[in-house]
Amino acid sequence: MRILEQEPLAKHTTFRIGGPARYFCEASNEAELAEALAFAETKSAPFFILGGGSNVLIADNGLPGLVIKMRLRGKEYSDDGSFARVIAHSGESWDAFVADTVAKGLYGIENLSAIPGTVGASPVQNIGAYGQEVKDVIEWVEVFDADTKAVRRLSNDECGFSYRHSMFKNENNKNLIVLRIAFRLSRDGHPERGYPEVEAYLEAKGIVAPNPARMREAIIAIRKQKLPDVSETGTAGSFFKNPLLQKAHSHIFKHLFYGAPLHAHTETHDKLSAAWLIRNFCGEKQFRCGDAAIYIRQPLVLVNHRRARAQDVFILAQKIKTRVKKETGITLEFEVQTLGDFSQTTI
Ligand SMILES: Cc1cc2nc3c(=O)[nH]c(=O)nc-3n(C[C@H](O)[C@H](O)[C@H](O)COP(=O)(O)OP(=O)(O)OC[C@H]3O[C@@H](n4cnc5c(N)ncnc54)[C@H](O)[C@@H]3O)c2cc1C
Repeated sequence: MRILEQEPLAKHTTFRIGGPARYFCEASNEAELAEALAFAETKSAPFFILGGGSNVLIADNGLPGLVIKMRLRGKEYSDDGSFARVIAHSGESWDAFVADTVAKGLYGIENLSAIPGTVGASPVQNIGAYGQEVKDVIEWVEVFDADTKAVRRLSNDECGFSYRHSMFKNENNKNLIVLRIAFRLSRDGHPERGYPEVEAYLEAKGIVAPNPARMREAIIAIRKQKLPDVSETGTAGSFFKNPLLQKAHSHIFKHLFYGAPLHAHTETHDKLSAAWLIRNFCGEKQFRCGDAAIYIRQPLVLVNHRRARAQDVFILAQKIKTRVKKETGITLEFEVQTLGDFSQTTI
């Protein structure tokens, strides 16, 4: 396994931003992962796990330790009555995995089509889109515990999933490296078509009873209209989470801000559209920092128009947060994970 020094991380992230990693390697199997971790230990360096780099903003001065890019490949299908169990390894491309399950006629992750990144990162923020969340089909997650050097299998409950969150995001669980995930997908499931855009697409195409393949087609077409193409534009997708408001607060908010799009999330909370907040309170022209900007077709998405630095994106995101807080009292939370030192970055 080759360990590179001062590897520019911009080429490993979809934002195309990020300074150098002091050390960098790719792990294609467990032995290489163990070797990488042993190397970090001998150097007394911290380690960072990277998948496809599509949910991170890495600081301009890079990362001080060893960055390990996960390349573990493979997937195995087995029969479980009207369900199929699929065990997929962490370095598999998420979207290629979705395409494979859809081609087999399986329901469960078809609405999560066209999300960039790897299988291994999917539980980290409990990826979700168009009414599906990965937590609903995960049976277990197998991890390598870098502290104990043991492989552990975590049940769905133990992963502590919630909206765009899991226990893997907690700072004291950074020792847990996802190796494999078992998914339980249905052969005779129902399409999740509750989103108006999805319904409109299906209606326009005259699709009455969509199978997983037709749902995937719909989702890809809708996403193409709204989101930048990562092969052309630097981005990490939605930069902020949609805020969750307690029902009582939500009720007041609706009175104060007529037309605010609030939707039932749980029995106790409603979800407010962060895109609406940004569109209404932060002008795209005014809210720009160097080459970092709000994406014109979807204000939740921040983009790098060629030469933005991490600092530009970070300052722009802070400005948006400050304005939204001032105008509405709502605190926006980053969905994208910032890695490295941003302490010198001020508005
Ligand atoms: C255009 C675009 C659209 C997007 N749309 C959506 C969407 O609809 N819904 C959604 O939920 N997200 C979306 N995202 C965000 C992103 O694609 C997902 O969060 C994805 O799961 C990140 O995968 P990754 O492999 O790139 O992770 P990375 O960005 O490489 O890493 C993200 C985090 O996961 C950790 N991590 C990665 N792999 C492992 C592992 N094997 N073990 C332990 N920790 C690990 C990293 O340390 C880091 O903290 C979008 C992003 C883009 C660019």
